[in-house]
Amino acid sequence: MQTDKKGNNLSSFMIYDGERANLDITDTTFYGFPKESIVKAERRLLDTGVRSTAYFSMEYGLATSVYNKFKSDKELNKGNKRSDTEVFSNIRAMDYFHMVKIDSIVDMPIYSGGLGVLAGDSMKSAADLGLPLVGVGILWSKGYFTQEFCAVDGQNVEEFLWEPKDYPALLPLDVYVTVMIGDADVKIRLWKYYIYSNDHNHVIPLILLDSNLLENPPWARELTGQLYKSDSAWWKIVQRKILGYGGVRALDALGYSIDKYHLNEGHAAFAFLEKAVGLDEEGIANLKSSFAYTCHTPVEAGHDKFLISELEKVFNSKELEVLKRFGTQKENKKIINLTLLSMNVCSQVNAVAQKHGEVTKVQFPTYEAKIKSITNGIHIPTWASDSFKSLFEKYEGVIGDWRQDSTRLQNVGNLKDNVEFKKDLWAAHKKNKCELANVLRHWFFRDDVLTIAWARRAAAYKRVNLILQYPDRLMKMSKEIGPLQIIFAGKAHPNDARGIKDIQKLLTSIDSMANCSDYIKLICLENYDILLGKLLTSSVDIWLNNPLPPFEASGTSGMKAILNGVVQLSTLDGWVVEAKDANIGRIFGHSPKKGELGTETDLKMQEDAQSLYDTLEELMHLYYDSENSEEKRLSNGWMTMMINCIAQSGFFNTSRMVTQYNDSVWQLDRAGG
Ligand SMILES: *Cc1c(COP(=O)(O)O)cnc(C)c1O
Repeated sequence: MQTDKKGNNLSSFMIYDGERANLDITDTTFYGFPKESIVKAERRLLDTGVRSTAYFSMEYGLATSVYNKFKSDKELNKGNKRSDTEVFSNIRAMDYFHMVKIDSIVDMPIYSGGLGVLAGDSMKSAADLGLPLVGVGILWSKGYFTQEFCAVDGQNVEEFLWEPKDYPALLPLDVYVTVMIGDADVKIRLWKYYIYSNDHNHVIPLILLDSNLLENPPWARELTGQLYKSDSAWWKIVQRKILGYGGVRALDALGYSIDKYHLNEGHAAFAFLEKAVGLDEEGIANLKSSFAYTCHTPVEAGHDKFLISELEKVFNSKELEVLKRFGTQKENKKIINLTLLSMNVCSQVNAVAQKHGEVTKVQFPTYEAKIKSITNGIHIPTWASDSFKSLFEKYEGVIGDWRQDSTRLQNVGNLKDNVEFKKDLWAAHKKNKCELANVLRHWFFRDDVLTIAWARRAAAYKRVNLILQYPDRLMKMSKEIGPLQIIFAGKAHPNDARGIKDIQKLLTSIDSMANCSDYIKLICLENYDILLGKLLTSSVDIWLNNPLPPFEASGTSGMKAILNGVVQLSTLDGWVVEAKDANIGRIFGHSPKKGELGTETDLKMQEDAQSLYDTLEELMHLYYDSENSEEKRLSNGWMTMMINCIAQSGFFNTSRMVTQYNDSVWQLDRAGG
């Protein structure tokens, strides 16, 4: 076994717990992947001479079900399987007899939505770029939740119990830290998961914190149970203390020398406390320069605020002093605001799209000079469908090595006049659509009908019900131009009454449109997750993105769609603002003036629904012209939009995004080899 001069060998990097037998690790392979990549990455993180970054996020959507799957000889534990998905449709009779069959490992259930998927995609791109970076998160033993549709209540919420100890390549370490919660010391076990680069030569270790230990009292074992459990302020504070404070202790316990702590959302802000208590003014100033923060939402509920009287139950007086100094809200001195705390203690502050940067400056004018924007992205090799990967390979002569350098996809724009490419592109899309039609065959889905998807978290501002506002208008359009298939999917946070009401309304609308099903098929899929996300973003014709501007900070699902040639029907918000002149679909609806925030509750459903229908009508004509005539397909605007979409994904990817973060915030050296 190789050892370096500090005496580290591979088993000491992993320090995994002996109680776990049957690991698929040999002298050279780690669950089928090269073990040497782990050794290289761990060495660099331990080396004080190599600059490194720790990336903190409450959630990670790693897409372990669809990308870089670890190989294991062990049979998959039933608890780690994705179960079949129920359907609520306007052909209700079918829903009772059929489910969408799924045979797959569950994606590691430690994420809820876009924030987590972004963190996972960022880790993968950091690995692709060979950066000395380590992720810090929480091992949620009960996942987020399992959604069950219920016509009366919208959705019911069930715990999602899985088996971390049997999840392939997830290693329980024999390393523990403690976090003080009030008067009690809570013991936290560390786990590790290695995120491999696309070429398998590099890894990013992800450290996951877990309080579910027999040594802890029952209440403490629950603390890392459900992601975003928010039954009380205490729960939220404690989960954030474990992430931030526990995370810093974990990095120390593993011996990593970290130069930059990157906090995602205010969730991780308590990381600063562990380092700041006891420092003098100079020490504090220095510490700030090693902290960076990314703000991910303009939505009010996304900014944590806690009463000092609640924080007193969890933090000691010295910690509270730091919190009060940097996090007190001017208008109400009894409240600590984690967004303010993060903006005050981090020398660098980022927003997640150009537009979001402008909005954040209006919301937090004091920090205007500090706020910079780096637009979000997606990890191209994760979200490209197989048929599109083959397509890109076939045209690699024009496109270049898109696996190594995602920006090369811009070159797809050079294929606009290539008839053979257009035929291949249509065929690749058809192949994906056939797969979708097959999955939904019991609901009589077809591959020659215009198919639209709305799939994301069911938060009120995302307006799931916009397209069903006026069923009569939709029916009229469908009768005149051609049939429609519309798919919905999304979970509402269990405490988000408005989001839950939206799902209930959606189910009611679908039910009431039973007599339309010859023209409009409506399908709502239960338990939206990464697996369904990948299926939908790669196989429909139109990706519907209708948040109320300016509340979508970036949005990323549309980026997954454009990569697969899926045309956008979107309001002018988030990332779409930066692609508005690129002709990747159609933009509709109300848009506030620069500097104007509007109100989250004024959803503008009536006016924006009319605008949506007007715009959709135009797209329906274009689509059906393409569908019905090869001549028009090769010459009309639909195909041009598909090509523009793919070309834009040369920009909207995490390879470009992580490079920008590295250039302006982390400043890490890429590994050789
Ligand atoms: C990409 C993704 C999201 C984010 O979608 P938005 O467009 O940002 O709303 C949410 N959930 C899943 C499962 C995803 O894959």
